[in-house]
Amino acid sequence: MYNYAGVIVNNDSVKVDKIFTYKIPEGLKNKIDLGQRVKVPFGMGNKNIDGFIVQLYEYVELDAKSLSKLKAIIEISDDFQVIREKDISLIGIMRGKYLCTYLECIKVFIPSGITKGMKFKTKNVVVLGEPITAKYEKESYKKILEFIKENNGNYSKQQLSNEFGFSVSSINTLIKHGFLVLEEAVINRYNDKQYNNYEERTLNSLQQQAVNTIMNSKGKKFLIHGVTGSGKTEIYMNLVKKAMEDGKDSIILIPEISLTPQMVERFKGRFGKNVAIFHSKLSDGERFDEWMRVKMGKVKVAIGARSAIFLPFSNLGLIVIDEEHEGSYKSDSDPKYNARDIAELKSDIEGCKVVLGSATPAIESYYKATTGEYTLITLSERADGAVLPQVKIVDMREELMNDNKSIFSASLFSGLKHTLANKEQAILFLNRRGFSTFVSCRKCGYVFKCSNCDIALTYHNYSSNLTCHYCGAKRQIVNTCPRCKSKYVKYFGIGTEQLEDQVKKVFPEARTLRMDFDTTRGKNSYEKIYNSFRNEEHNVLIGTQMVAKGLDFPNVTLVGVIAADLSLNLPDYRANERTFQLITQVSGRAGRGKKPGRVVVQTYTPESFSIKYAVENDYISFYKEEVEIRRAMNYPPFAKILAINLSSEDEKLLIKSIQDLGDKLHIKLDNNDKIEVLGPCPCGVSKIKSAYRWQILIKGDFTTELAEEIKDITYNELNSVHNYIKVGLDVNPNNLL
Ligand code: ADP
Ligand code: ZN
Ligand code: ZN
Repeated sequence: MYNYAGVIVNNDSVKVDKIFTYKIPEGLKNKIDLGQRVKVPFGMGNKNIDGFIVQLYEYVELDAKSLSKLKAIIEISDDFQVIREKDISLIGIMRGKYLCTYLECIKVFIPSGITKGMKFKTKNVVVLGEPITAKYEKESYKKILEFIKENNGNYSKQQLSNEFGFSVSSINTLIKHGFLVLEEAVINRYNDKQYNNYEERTLNSLQQQAVNTIMNSKGKKFLIHGVTGSGKTEIYMNLVKKAMEDGKDSIILIPEISLTPQMVERFKGRFGKNVAIFHSKLSDGERFDEWMRVKMGKVKVAIGARSAIFLPFSNLGLIVIDEEHEGSYKSDSDPKYNARDIAELKSDIEGCKVVLGSATPAIESYYKATTGEYTLITLSERADGAVLPQVKIVDMREELMNDNKSIFSASLFSGLKHTLANKEQAILFLNRRGFSTFVSCRKCGYVFKCSNCDIALTYHNYSSNLTCHYCGAKRQIVNTCPRCKSKYVKYFGIGTEQLEDQVKKVFPEARTLRMDFDTTRGKNSYEKIYNSFRNEEHNVLIGTQMVAKGLDFPNVTLVGVIAADLSLNLPDYRANERTFQLITQVSGRAGRGKKPGRVVVQTYTPESFSIKYAVENDYISFYKEEVEIRRAMNYPPFAKILAINLSSEDEKLLIKSIQDLGDKLHIKLDNNDKIEVLGPCPCGVSKIKSAYRWQILIKGDFTTELAEEIKDITYNELNSVHNYIKVGLDVNPNNLL
């Protein structure tokens, strides 16, 4: 019998980030359980707040006085455990690994609807009753009764009147005499759409081998390195089916679900309605309903973006992470977790299998495959016999020497002409949105920047203003330089808007469609663009990296990469990797059907190895070269990076505080030869939304314990200024800007 409970309270302050001990009152002793949400008195005023039970004890080692001071739990809030017991240990691990609070971890495991006291949504629907009186002969009554017989319990009174034109007073009369009854029914707030059956395919021998390896091998973690179109999805589905036959649940993660309606179609089309979908664009109600369906064991499969990794399945057998190299698996708010790491931890804790898949694995993942931590499975051919596209590299410097000043090289120009003439489709990829990416004065060099951020403004044609891509601030266009008053204000840099403009001008036969952040903001706008391109209402799709992901259209025979070098020049150790991935992935969109595909990659640096190997579709050579650079420079996977980011509107205070912190960390760590302390220095983007930004990077082979010490030093040092300075700690951040 447990007498005391360890409770995490629902209060955001870092100061209360610990486990509080509460007494369990007699009346609750036989109901109390780990993972429950409870109401507890908290603080000086004994305010009733939510708490989560993470420990249970028979005794606590306290003196009599302290013991008598312990407060008691007031009540248990739900009739189920909101956190699974297995997840409680995971929460503890995450807190140490990601240097955040218990509560921040708990919050990713439960939907916000739980603490808000959300319930299932219901409405009163009309159902057939058992009348005592004789039959009604009136024609209008008969019609209503017949309709309800066909649609028993489907509609409310309001719907019957508004949508089907029945009279409310007739319905009321029928209710009064017992012919009809009102009943409360639950409304599904999740996607309950029926999808076309997605037929099972017979696996080819490579796919079958992959499935066998995963099913029979003793290891639990697998990396499928399969070229684009090698049929990885079919392998995932096969594994899900096997897990189901075993009575086990599966989680499929995909990069950001709204971006891949195709996957949803395939999974719902194969496994029926009972697939939960979980992503960031769900409303609180939808999220609550989907989470409850999982909790109550109504679904065996969930497919979703990174947060779906935390769904409370009771018997998890399989986690699949598709396109595992994707940056969107890492969260940039606390806990700053990477879903890949969480999957591994889950596998260690509850024994489920983890399958990572990609045509361009993250360097960290492939490294683990070489050390044996993951079992490597390689698929080097496309599944349906389609051949990989032919890729041509074009040196744009030569184009210029041949007097071609347009953004289309001769090859891309003739390729597009040919594609359009043949009634095929093309995808053009340019990783910059807007019309012109910066505006500057040719006389004095003034660059138009955001007044809140240290970022050049982008000119957007459709709204004809200058926009900041960091804070969204807009500014009117001006034709005179604010500094020297000259009229030589000029627009530089081409974005997707201008590319679309150019395509329309140069190729009158093109029916263009643009897919970027600006055109996909609405809830279903991505799906609309996706469907209209699939239905071939358009023949040229222009877009940012969104077009590089997951699209599988048989009539796309040409892909053009407008400027391959763009991602190469970012000041980030992952720049080579990102460039290789983007070019390979977008190239993989070409020639997925019966017709062969062509890719034209335009670049100013054809000699850079990431572009060269991407064009040759040679991941292994790329990996070998890149991993040696990482080793030499001591970057992941050979070391960790802990970024300590401070921001404040008070620049002076910020600099003083981070320098003091820097001094402390240097003193503590400088004689540790496994660790480097870099900085403090201003961040790559030195100001965002009026807040100045500085950072310290700690690089090396540090342990979780040392990281926690660094966390404590940081919070102690900044304790007196924490109202003015925001602190962010991030282990292996997605970008260092
Ligand atoms: P990947 O995820 O590896 O890029 P997909 O799973 O999208 O590849 O598969 C590429 C194409 O090959 C799809 O159109 C799919 O329907 C088809 N395909 C997959 N497996 C088979 C198979 N065993 N037989 C025939 N076609 C297949
Ligand atoms: Zn000027
Ligand atoms: Zn801004």
